[in-house]
Amino acid sequence: LSRYTATGDDRLECDVLIVGSGAGGSAVADVMTAAGRDVLMVEEGAYLPHDRVPEQLPDAFLNMWRCSGLTVALGPAPVAYAEGRCVGGGTEINTAIFQRAPDEIVEGWRQSHRVDDLSPLSLKPYYDRAAAAVSARLTTGPLGRPSDLLREAGERLGWKVEALRRSQRHCVGTNLCLAGCPTGGKQSMSSTLIPLALARGLRLVSQCRVDRLEIRSGRVSGARATARDITGRRVRLAIRARAVFVCAGAIHTPALLLRSGIKRAVGRSLRLHPTVKALARFDETVDAASHRVALYSITEFMPAIRIGGSLTTPGVFGMGLAEDWENRRDLIDDFPRTATYYAMARAEGVGRIDVLPGAHEPLVRYRLKESDWPLLATGLDALVKAMFAAGARRVFPGFRQHAGWTDAASASQEIARGLPRKLANLFTIHLFSSCPMGEDEARCPIDSWGRVRGVEGLHVADGSMIPDAPGVNPQATIMALAYRTAEHAGR
Ligand SMILES: Cc1cc2nc3c(=O)[nH]c(=O)nc-3n(C[C@H](O)[C@H](O)[C@H](O)COP(=O)(O)OP(=O)(O)OC[C@H]3O[C@@H](n4cnc5c(N)ncnc54)[C@H](O)[C@@H]3O)c2cc1C
Repeated sequence: LSRYTATGDDRLECDVLIVGSGAGGSAVADVMTAAGRDVLMVEEGAYLPHDRVPEQLPDAFLNMWRCSGLTVALGPAPVAYAEGRCVGGGTEINTAIFQRAPDEIVEGWRQSHRVDDLSPLSLKPYYDRAAAAVSARLTTGPLGRPSDLLREAGERLGWKVEALRRSQRHCVGTNLCLAGCPTGGKQSMSSTLIPLALARGLRLVSQCRVDRLEIRSGRVSGARATARDITGRRVRLAIRARAVFVCAGAIHTPALLLRSGIKRAVGRSLRLHPTVKALARFDETVDAASHRVALYSITEFMPAIRIGGSLTTPGVFGMGLAEDWENRRDLIDDFPRTATYYAMARAEGVGRIDVLPGAHEPLVRYRLKESDWPLLATGLDALVKAMFAAGARRVFPGFRQHAGWTDAASASQEIARGLPRKLANLFTIHLFSSCPMGEDEARCPIDSWGRVRGVEGLHVADGSMIPDAPGVNPQATIMALAYRTAEHAGR
């Protein structure tokens, strides 16, 4: 059991403390436990491995998603975002698509942020290690209509289409990725690196939040945390550690550093992939809720735009209708004939994270750059064209107050006039770059190897260290950079 058992003393000691158990934290645990270090991992959320995941999506929102998924980056056009809060972090609730960042983007990071020894070649062994850890592979056999429709659309339009690798071993297509994976087919952290590290001696304390780091004379000495013990009582813990890896994700890593008095360039450069959806109604039965998420992606416009499919369940469909009930209510009986797809943009907008006294969650703000709007419009235009090419009869964009389009030409005409900024329901599940790595000290609170400037023994290893938007799904890059950081720290 991973819950803390109160001893009356409530002090813990370790060689290496890892804060957060997601993609980054688990890769660090892999390296550190393999090296024989005494490692303590502390995770704010609950431990729900695949044989204990909730059966219903609403229970998963409550127990595995931060704030039940109701999180938003505020700004002129707010962007709803989602994060995992459970052992395994986002990898437990994600759709497990495994993509490496394109070479030119990795090269760009080296130059823009002056990252030492970072190149596609030097990162490859870490990507390979991450791919092996999660058994990244293509899915064989029939993938279902949601996948085929996207592939057919791309082929008809003469656009590049790519089959997507996923972190999975024996995915049987339960389509419950958003609620953990009841079969363990998804190779999330709680099915791979965490059990491996536990077998090597990792101590894991779930439902324990690190409140602040202890820093003395320019060196980290541990942390203060609040745990829930097995009786549900709150316990204040003092943790002593020789080294600390902050792996709390792109929002909470900067929040923890700020709460601990580390401020320089922290949380000032949040990047994300703003995404716009389209709900398409076909004549044929697509039965999206019974099939895996679309396992093809239209890559013609990458790295600026990627077009893919959203996972569908009755609940997710219901939320899609509720976004614009007046216009979409008639679709309620069309559930089997609908599917949702998205266009994700490699935007240049920047956000920031601030901590507010007494507030549990940080304040997240984000503003799209002016040039991001035409980019999103290009993405939506391509997405809608793809939907009609796939045979859609009606396509509803992710805006409020929109009756939907019945043909691609009228959609293009309207989109060319610009997106309705106040009505767009933008969202993202990809967050990064809030503590970018590099030697550009003005912009990078951590150096090229994840070391926090000015604090000995303190490292960052998660999505917040990625210098800039990768343009692809980020888990693979987060794991690769965390492996690189931990290996370097262990030398
Ligand atoms: C619905 C969804 C679908 C996605 N699909 C994909 C996909 O298909 N492919 C892909 O590559 N990416 C996908 N992503 C994104 C991917 O899952 C994340 O980018 C990745 O998990 C982030 O890794 P991380 O280590 O930075 O942080 P996280 O995985 O978010 O882990 C951070 C952990 O730290 C914990 N924590 C935070 N603060 C504290 C604290 N103070 N004390 C203790 N613990 C703390 C959190 O509870 C969390 O568990 C998806 C994300 C979501 C939400």
